Amino acid sequence: MWIVPEAAIADLITPEASFEAVEAVFAAMARGDAYNFPVVREAIGHEDALYGFKGGFDRSELVLGVKAGGYWPNNLEKFKIINHQSTVFLFDPDTGRAKAMVGGNLLTALRTAAASSVSIKHLARTDARVLGMVGAGHQSHFQLRAAARQRDFERVVAWNYHPEMLPRLGETAAELGLPFEEASLEDLGAQADVIITITSAFAPSLMAAHVKPGTHLACMGTDTKGKQEVEAALVAKAAVFTDEVAQSVSIGEAQHAVGQGLKAEADIHQLGAVINGTHPGRSSAEEITLFDGTGVGLQDLAVADKVLQIAIDKGVAVEVDF
Ligand code: NAD
Repeated sequence: MWIVPEAAIADLITPEASFEAVEAVFAAMARGDAYNFPVVREAIGHEDALYGFKGGFDRSELVLGVKAGGYWPNNLEKFKIINHQSTVFLFDPDTGRAKAMVGGNLLTALRTAAASSVSIKHLARTDARVLGMVGAGHQSHFQLRAAARQRDFERVVAWNYHPEMLPRLGETAAELGLPFEEASLEDLGAQADVIITITSAFAPSLMAAHVKPGTHLACMGTDTKGKQEVEAALVAKAAVFTDEVAQSVSIGEAQHAVGQGLKAEADIHQLGAVINGTHPGRSSAEEITLFDGTGVGLQDLAVADKVLQIAIDKGVAVEVDF
């Protein structure tokens, strides 16, 4: 069995490798070659922690495993480690033997950023030049870096509920050579060709009236029942794509539009179908497209398997007799 420690991951995984792994597994899901197992998420009654499992099996790549972990809100203050903690376990699908244990913290951010980046590649207009960011927390920096690779963006406009967090996101934009402006939601929507929302909000910030025709939205923050980043009317009028339809309508951004009867579940499509060419994707330059990125276990397994291969090739993976 192999171990790839969390501290080794940053030097091993590249944005390209994360992107390829996530694009391939979305395609496998839409072909029916890969499926996610039911998610377990429990408040364990200790340290206010939320702990759970996200697992799945990709038959085409023979990747079987589970990501275990969750959210420990007191970590940073008490132990000086980040609040989100996770580990990926991979198993040999031929025998059931444990194959690898891989640090999952950085991989979670990279696979989430890769998902919205895959959606931009397949759904945004090719002439998109202005990137809008709603959110400026931990994930937003990864999102911005991954998005910048997909189109010839000329500048970034950003809004955050806590404006004092925006200068740090501006530093990330500067690293990428992109001019950065803070904007109202009205101005952001009027200018942006692609908008990423990545907040932990429970009420919508971005409204249908803010967004201009032809925009592509990647809504990445809503991954739990009750969370919401954009107005349900915006989801209703957009062509909606997602990683997994069952999650989109229950814990994703589409839960509200579907719950209010504004959008039919049958009108939400897997992004993998667009990747596979079985769904045409964007139908016109004026259409608003929206990717509802809910986060599936197969994304974690795909990037963990990729980093394991790289770690073995580079001699960094630790082999233990298990
Ligand atoms: P973070 O705590 O670092 O940042 C939170 C962000 O939300 C900040 O921009 C903050 O200003 C904003 N925010 C907080 N309260 C708000 C409110 N009431 N209205 C509007 N904005 C508000 O969190 P993070 O690690 O950047 O994660 C952001 C979100 O992404 C979380 O909801 C997290 O669960 C989700 N997430 C989703 C996936 C996925 O696969 N879809 C993966 C990882 C994280």
